[in-house]
Amino acid sequence: MSFSLSAEHEDFRNSVREFANAEIAPHVAQWDKDHHFPIDAVRKMGDLGLFGITAPEEFGGAAGDFTSLCIAIEELGRVDQSIGITLEAGVGLGINPILTFGTDEQKEKWLPDLVAGRALAGFGLTEPGAGSDAGATKTRAVLDDGDWVVNGAKQFITNSGSEITALVTVTARTGDRGEGRPEISTIVIPSGTPGFTAEPAYDKLGWHISDTHPLTFTDARVPEGNLLGERGRGFAQFLATLDDGRVAIAALAVGCVQACLDLALEYSLERTTFGKPIGAKQGVAFQISDLAVMAQAGRALTYQAASLKDAGAPAKEFKQAAAIAKLYTSEAAVTATRIATQVFGGYGFMEEYPVARFYRDAKILEIGEGTSEVQRMLIARGLGLPVE
Ligand SMILES: Cc1cc2nc3c(=O)[nH]c(=O)nc-3n(C[C@H](O)[C@H](O)[C@H](O)COP(=O)(O)OP(=O)(O)OC[C@H]3O[C@@H](n4cnc5c(N)ncnc54)[C@H](O)[C@@H]3O)c2cc1C
Repeated sequence: MSFSLSAEHEDFRNSVREFANAEIAPHVAQWDKDHHFPIDAVRKMGDLGLFGITAPEEFGGAAGDFTSLCIAIEELGRVDQSIGITLEAGVGLGINPILTFGTDEQKEKWLPDLVAGRALAGFGLTEPGAGSDAGATKTRAVLDDGDWVVNGAKQFITNSGSEITALVTVTARTGDRGEGRPEISTIVIPSGTPGFTAEPAYDKLGWHISDTHPLTFTDARVPEGNLLGERGRGFAQFLATLDDGRVAIAALAVGCVQACLDLALEYSLERTTFGKPIGAKQGVAFQISDLAVMAQAGRALTYQAASLKDAGAPAKEFKQAAAIAKLYTSEAAVTATRIATQVFGGYGFMEEYPVARFYRDAKILEIGEGTSEVQRMLIARGLGLPVE
């Protein structure tokens, strides 16, 4: 399938780029150093309408396409990966489950603030003993006197413990289907629910600006009406949510590759050794050529997958395109940061140069929302291979 970005898409790209350069770029080095989650910047992103790109107008959104959301994530990610993931997770993991599976009441209650960027929501699938094997969830929810009583723990949950986090949606065992197969459902747990604790934030290798916490639930009690979607469909709902998320992560990875290309190209024209710019040496120039190839190939795979989603392509086709885009771009981003850091020589190892931050931030792209191994497994299955 062919695709092209419209003039409106390119205008939108320019407006997000201007915003990112003016409002984000000047501050990210300090925020990263301080591990500071910038609520004001999130609010400004909300004011620009970024959290509402794909949401319906009745909830304050722009009813735009998924391609536009990917463009926004790419452009933010080009300036800083943590800010890019804050939008990606805010929409893909925060807003989408409620928009797609919520009741009218749940949508009216939560969406206006999430869409405006006044609030954030987390998506709790991963547990200490269940990541790639997310169906092995141990968290339990039991109905008691009209309430769900939730016990268990979630791990590595983005946007789950910030000052403006309003809720998390979590998967939990709500019963047994027999033969050892659990019934898994999704439950909405508002922040501040007694027994629900966002534990202290992780000390991470990268994504220092992004908000990530372990969550614990000890007899956390929420009304029966906080079930999200159909009882027993929790796992399927989360898998569908992750397909979109993988394309959005691919867009974030493309932003990372493009940043590496921009930074390495500029530096290779300025820095001289042996009387000439390092860009005149084939050993450097050829690596920068590879960055340009990765940026273009990654962008093509990402926006092709996004356009399949916008065109309403069959789920199987979109799933395969999403896994391919996520796998290629995330591995390209890790390679690109290694190349860009190398081009900067010793300066590339210094935190005052953004390539060092991109180097630390890239690794998680190969892990979050399904590891590279999981993407290869999905692609192999899509090809008809009977892989485990
Ligand atoms: C910063 C950060 C933010 C995150 N945000 C969220 C979030 O908001 N919500 C959420 O629910 N989760 C989130 N995650 C969790 C993330 O999605 C998981 O870490 C990821 O899916 C991997 O799970 P795991 O860590 O349990 O690794 P494991 O599943 O234990 O995997 C360990 C290794 O084994 C490999 N492996 C596992 N199974 C197979 C297989 N069948 N074949 C081949 N290799 C295999 C994996 O690829 C990996 O290399 C986040 C993680 C991080 C680090």
